[in-house]
Amino acid sequence: MARVITITSGKGGVGKTTTAINLGAALNSFGKDVLIVDANLTTPNIGLHLGAPMVPISLNHVLSGKAKVSDAIYEHSSGTKILPSSLSIKELKNLNHSKLKEVSKKLKKLSDFIILDSAAGLGDEAVAALESADDIIIVTNPEIPAVTDALKTSKLVEQLGKTVKGIVVNRSSGSKSEMPISNILDMLELPLLGIIPEDKNVPKSVLMKDALIYTHPRSRASKAYRKLAAKLIGKENYKEA
Ligand code: ADP
Ligand code: MG
Repeated sequence: MARVITITSGKGGVGKTTTAINLGAALNSFGKDVLIVDANLTTPNIGLHLGAPMVPISLNHVLSGKAKVSDAIYEHSSGTKILPSSLSIKELKNLNHSKLKEVSKKLKKLSDFIILDSAAGLGDEAVAALESADDIIIVTNPEIPAVTDALKTSKLVEQLGKTVKGIVVNRSSGSKSEMPISNILDMLELPLLGIIPEDKNVPKSVLMKDALIYTHPRSRASKAYRKLAAKLIGKENYKEA
């Protein structure tokens, strides 16, 4: 049964897009059929990260009723499919965010895993991505502001009558100044799905316009993303070769 997995946060810049792309690519490397959707319509990034910045038909056209969803799906060279949003401000007009749920349902007929890269914050755009989800993953960083905002998102999810599958702590460097994982878990009271280390190869992969797990497969963050993907598909005992 296909799943829609929404990658959300509270605070911006914590690593949602990086996680959506690399979790998606890792699931794809395990043979799953994956579609990554840029549900961050106001500040879209997926196309930029994966080398498809300008596309003729995007999620914007689908949400404004101008195109069919199947016409807005592109295949990345890795085999992962993407549904990008438009970079044009003009195309933010007449968007019906609530239509995302209906679109997500249709996407479940096309792929096993639909990964929605959400906007930050608690606005309509972020809420639409939460309402479309079967599984919600909150990304945070090991620092008080990010965890505080993650808590807000988690409360919002509760108000929507949904549950959070768990959290991913990204950019963990193990430094003394960062918030210990045990404190983060005490504060959020949510399951820990994965810890992604701070990794200087992440920005390099963005420049190379491909997922880190393909540009730097042996890097520490790549290993952590594969472990996260393995956990989500029930391969709890997955070990790197
Ligand atoms: P968001 O989608 O939440 O706004 P991004 O995924 O765009 O966040 O990440 C924000 C910035 O942090 C980017 O410049 C990205 O390259 C960098 N980044 C994300 N995760 C890591 C990491 N594990 N190690 C190093 N840099 C990272
Ligand atoms: Mg982003």
